[in-house]
Amino acid sequence: MINFQYIKASTPKAAIDALIKDSAAQFIAGGTNLVDLMKKGVTAPEKLIDITNLDLKKIEKQKGKLYIGALALNSEVAEHDLVSKEQPLLSLALKAGASQQIRNMATVGGNMLQRTRCPYFYNTDMPCNKRQPGTGCGALKGFNRMHAIFGASDKCIAVHPSDMCIALMALNATVLITGPKGDRQIPFADFHRLPGDTPQKDNNLERGDLIIGVEIPDNNCNQHVHYLKVRDRTSYAFALVSVAVALDIQNNIIKDIRLAMGGVAHKPWRLKEAENFLKGRTVSEDNFRQAATLAMHGAKGHGYNNFKLKLAPNSIVETLKIATQKA
Ligand code: SF4
Repeated sequence: MINFQYIKASTPKAAIDALIKDSAAQFIAGGTNLVDLMKKGVTAPEKLIDITNLDLKKIEKQKGKLYIGALALNSEVAEHDLVSKEQPLLSLALKAGASQQIRNMATVGGNMLQRTRCPYFYNTDMPCNKRQPGTGCGALKGFNRMHAIFGASDKCIAVHPSDMCIALMALNATVLITGPKGDRQIPFADFHRLPGDTPQKDNNLERGDLIIGVEIPDNNCNQHVHYLKVRDRTSYAFALVSVAVALDIQNNIIKDIRLAMGGVAHKPWRLKEAENFLKGRTVSEDNFRQAATLAMHGAKGHGYNNFKLKLAPNSIVETLKIATQKA
């Protein structure tokens, strides 16, 4: 790890000014991913701007939306009454992520910005277009068991690692940002990127942008929810495949549904085709299987991860069965 400067910002403007002044500076909050990246030599910021003193920790209702500040801790959000009551899918996804100790440190904004856990990305002896553009992709013909089956490119087949973000994608969240050009918002579906020819870019933030928080609009999908995370061990492991679902069911008819998958793409993967198929249909395993088949359109394995082509639709069906059995 190289030496670096450390400063603590007291306002968003001071943090942004400090960042744009120095091209080798980065924000740090909980540091649960960034410090690992620094220790392994994947990234080497010369200046860290600590933003944990900023007033961005609130969790509150604001005009028909649930606002969650970017510096709210994952553990606080997961246990918060408003979140458990109004957006229980988010609580479930957060509790499935990492360990309690990490959730006590990790922030909502940092969770959104965590980088892929592709082992070739963390091994600086291996080629990786995400770490060093133009060097190649070690995973494409390598051990790619954890890798993407949707939206990959010949430059990168990594997956997005967050559980929280799969729920935020399903819940139509919006990301609130401030930056050198002022305030703006990005729908969650447009926040993370597919790899294309620029896998080094995980998201659509611009230099100097600071995440202020996220907003989740009210919905009627908070009675029947489930987050299924299939992984190699029961805790502290990243998803092979995960499924987030929230439904509004009346008289056994699906009135509304939000469905997203994790562990399958470079960004949280929304299953709109499957949602549209299920809206207005009865709760039945046959309908769930048809929806899961639709959801798999365009899926492609890369060798070691071919098992996901079967695991993913089975996980969708299982998640829907569990969620619809909940009262
Ligand atoms: Fe790097 Fe992406 Fe290839 Fe992994 S999949 S080695 S992150 S380019």
